[in-house]
Amino acid sequence: MPKPALQSSFLATALLAWYPRHHRDLPWRHTRDPYAIWLSEVILQQTRVAQGLPYYERFLAAYPTVQALAAAPEQEVLRLWQGLGYYSRARNMHLTAQQVVQEYDGRFPSTYAELLKLRGVGPYTAAAIASFAFDEPVAVLDGNVYRVLARIFGLHSDIAAPASRKEFQALADQHIPATAPADFNQAIMEFGAIQCTPVKPDCLFCPLQQQCWAFQHGQVAVLPIKSKAKASRVRYFQYFVLRYQEQLYLRERREKDIWQGLYDFALTETTIPEIPPAEVLRHLEALGAVVDTRQVAEPSAAFRHVLSHQKLEARFHPVALAQPLPASTLQDLGLRAYTLAEADALPKPILIANYLTRMY
Ligand code: SF4
Repeated sequence: MPKPALQSSFLATALLAWYPRHHRDLPWRHTRDPYAIWLSEVILQQTRVAQGLPYYERFLAAYPTVQALAAAPEQEVLRLWQGLGYYSRARNMHLTAQQVVQEYDGRFPSTYAELLKLRGVGPYTAAAIASFAFDEPVAVLDGNVYRVLARIFGLHSDIAAPASRKEFQALADQHIPATAPADFNQAIMEFGAIQCTPVKPDCLFCPLQQQCWAFQHGQVAVLPIKSKAKASRVRYFQYFVLRYQEQLYLRERREKDIWQGLYDFALTETTIPEIPPAEVLRHLEALGAVVDTRQVAEPSAAFRHVLSHQKLEARFHPVALAQPLPASTLQDLGLRAYTLAEADALPKPILIANYLTRMY
């Protein structure tokens, strides 16, 4: 059977009728302030609404304007972001705020094309700000929108392939009404989030059931087509939690790797999950740490953490030092001694923050 012909407005009509009755009441839906909208979009990327909501409120309370965010120290921004993951987003967000202040006099550009020129602002975020704050009829495309369009129109293109974007964007742009672009964009994303969900969509009570190609052809579970991401790499971290009296040694991660700008402990990466005690002592010796074997505690159980392309498995080796670390080690490893209160205030990967909360 041929796929349904595109009609210009059945989708908009159905979604605009569905939205007022079903949408969740979320704070960023009550604002037209491009700064607040941008903040919510950055926070919600790769984050569930329930998890992102308190961060949105915290950021807006700490930095009510783009000027306030731009002027904040990066370390403070990262600390506030702690727990959300993908820390490059926080760093980019901070740089974008500075760009808006320096190059745009503190006012967000008001068109899709201009918004795209901002650092870290891609087509999705630009479309969200342009439509929600400035009523520009440009369609947003996120995972929810891809799914809804693929199912309703029977599109079999791989949504993970960059080439598919054009096809989906053209289709969505064809259906967005010039009179209500913000509501249409909110509606189609919300419809994907709560009605046309990835698993067990609510087809039975769906207002688009009749027009939905996937439903009519029994292909709901098949669409959208998404090729598998590359298998993620497993990394084993051995953390040496060096403590001298009431102070812990931490370092800022400067290398080009995950968690740039965050703080963790002295680290050795290994090819096996656990290392034997003799190996632990050898590593400590190499660090110039003066310990006796009674002061090296058993390693922690594994702390696991999944990133987009990596799976981390960390073990912590607590070590009570008999003397402070030598200056040469501090210099070589970039370590510094912090009191517990100071360590608490540093921006840290959630893995480290969880360990500290559990142990101290
Ligand atoms: S009928 Fe099912 S698959 Fe089709 S749009 Fe509705 S919820 Fe989605």
